[in-house]
Amino acid sequence: MLYGKWRPRGFEEVVGQDHVVETLRNALATDKVAHAYLFAGPRGTGKTTTARILAKAVNCGELSDGEPCNKCRSCEAINRGAALDLIEMDAASNRGIDDVRELRDKIAFAPSDLQRKVYLLDEVHMLTTGAFNALLKTLEEPPPHAIFILATTELHEIPATITSRCQRFDFRRIPLVAMVERLRLIAEKEGYSVPDEALLAIADEGRGALRDAITLLEQIASMYGPSPSTDEVLESLGLVRDERTEKLAAALTERDLGASLEIAREVAGDGLDIARFTRETIDTLRERLLAAARDRTPEVGVLTHAVAELAGADFRRDPGSPVPLEVACAAAVLGPAQPPAAPAAPDAQSAQGGQQPQRRPQGRRREPREETREESFLRELYERCRMTQPALAAWLNGSCEVRAITDKVLQLGFYHPIHMQKIANDGRTLVEQKAEELLGHPVTLLVERIERRAPASRPAKGGHLAAAARELGAKPVESGPPPRPQPPEEDS
Ligand SMILES: [Zn+2]
Repeated sequence: MLYGKWRPRGFEEVVGQDHVVETLRNALATDKVAHAYLFAGPRGTGKTTTARILAKAVNCGELSDGEPCNKCRSCEAINRGAALDLIEMDAASNRGIDDVRELRDKIAFAPSDLQRKVYLLDEVHMLTTGAFNALLKTLEEPPPHAIFILATTELHEIPATITSRCQRFDFRRIPLVAMVERLRLIAEKEGYSVPDEALLAIADEGRGALRDAITLLEQIASMYGPSPSTDEVLESLGLVRDERTEKLAAALTERDLGASLEIAREVAGDGLDIARFTRETIDTLRERLLAAARDRTPEVGVLTHAVAELAGADFRRDPGSPVPLEVACAAAVLGPAQPPAAPAAPDAQSAQGGQQPQRRPQGRRREPREETREESFLRELYERCRMTQPALAAWLNGSCEVRAITDKVLQLGFYHPIHMQKIANDGRTLVEQKAEELLGHPVTLLVERIERRAPASRPAKGGHLAAAARELGAKPVESGPPPRPQPPEEDS
């Protein structure tokens, strides 16, 4: 892989992060290295690369001006990926409390092949709350031989107790000019001949993430050979873009949720800008919608709905995360997740209750007043979860209702299995912890599938998503899914 091959080996090669590199080199030159760092910023901007250079620098026997020598035993071991004391952990796949405990148990031992143990925790925002607490204890009293480097694309998801114990560096999207220079250097060293205009287009497509741009360069070279023309490059950038937006648009039109989620995950996994991918998918859906409207095909309804849902996906809190797109796809295919209905009269509720499982622990029957309280509990629970892990909390928003709260149990009923599974699997720790905060005692989360009660009223014009769809050129249709009601609160 070209990106790995041309990964910078020293601070002076790191592209577009001068403010970070300068501060680190000064700290190294004056022997003022911190014991915990937090590297925050978009993907593909050099966080892991800089972390590995820092790991070399704190262990290098021939440090010069804050730069590692890349020749001594330590530097070579790290460059080969063979240093036992550089411990890299991907928090996305090792996110539980046991993983952090294991790390804590081992940290006390002296380093074996380097001077200092360096722990590099990538995607650290993925840690569970319990794991964060375990990590916090280590950060409070780290052994002198250990250095922590935490890296994240989602700074806002890191608890303040963690950030306050780290020296923080913000990695920025890399300026276009710097990206072009680096691409040109790599192309030259690889023996490619790529016109400047084409390099500029590739760099622009990377949108500040050098890794994405280098990956594109590699794909283009494998497609067209080492001397692609500007036209070929532009064409290939179009192809890279079109293929999956078309696929996703087709999957949404066919209401194939599995395929939609698969594409969203794949795009995010490739490090592409998922917000931009979503906008391009909306463009594709709109074209299909216009054609469907012209030909009066029955797909108009599902397309209007899909455009509205995707237009409502909010990536501001999670720029690199596929979750907003996944939620939008789920809503587009399954129908909108509606907020809990206003408290229904007990009679109305029991009339509907015949069709659904009504197993409540201890057979407790809720009074209407109590139900109002439970719905506001759910609101508060969602808000608290959102403060800690907004991406996970999104699966809780308007997707469920409280079925029971007892001394030991919090039972939530979900309208769609996908929301239920997300919360039961990934969100359990978060929900149980926040519920305990609210209730003052620990509870176990139980989930079940329920049918959605009819909303008490519908706004006449279909709410903000329909407005967004109209803004995008969608026309109101007579048949098709019902308009989405206003959510109880707007995120601003
Ligand atoms: Zn060295």
